[in-house]
Amino acid sequence: MGRYAIYDSMQDNSADILTPPCPFCGQRGWITIPQTAADALLDGTPVQDALPELGFRLREQIISGTHPRCAPGAEFGDGIHPDLFR
Ligand SMILES: [Zn+2]
Repeated sequence: MGRYAIYDSMQDNSADILTPPCPFCGQRGWITIPQTAADALLDGTPVQDALPELGFRLREQIISGTHPRCAPGAEFGDGIHPDLFR
């Protein structure tokens, strides 16, 4: 059992990752990612290196479970620079 819960996807060359319970709404979620990225995650590659093009909010969901719509500042849209959340 690794750090990530990754399952075969219905789509070719893709995998579905089950994200942790969201700290805001308590629901888990799914994100479909390329199989190559899934393999990299399972090999221990950091999320930002395995999925550099995924987008800050979805990477955050993989790491912490926080849904993009639940994240602080989500109501202000996606124009906020990610550094503001560090
Ligand atoms: Zn949520």
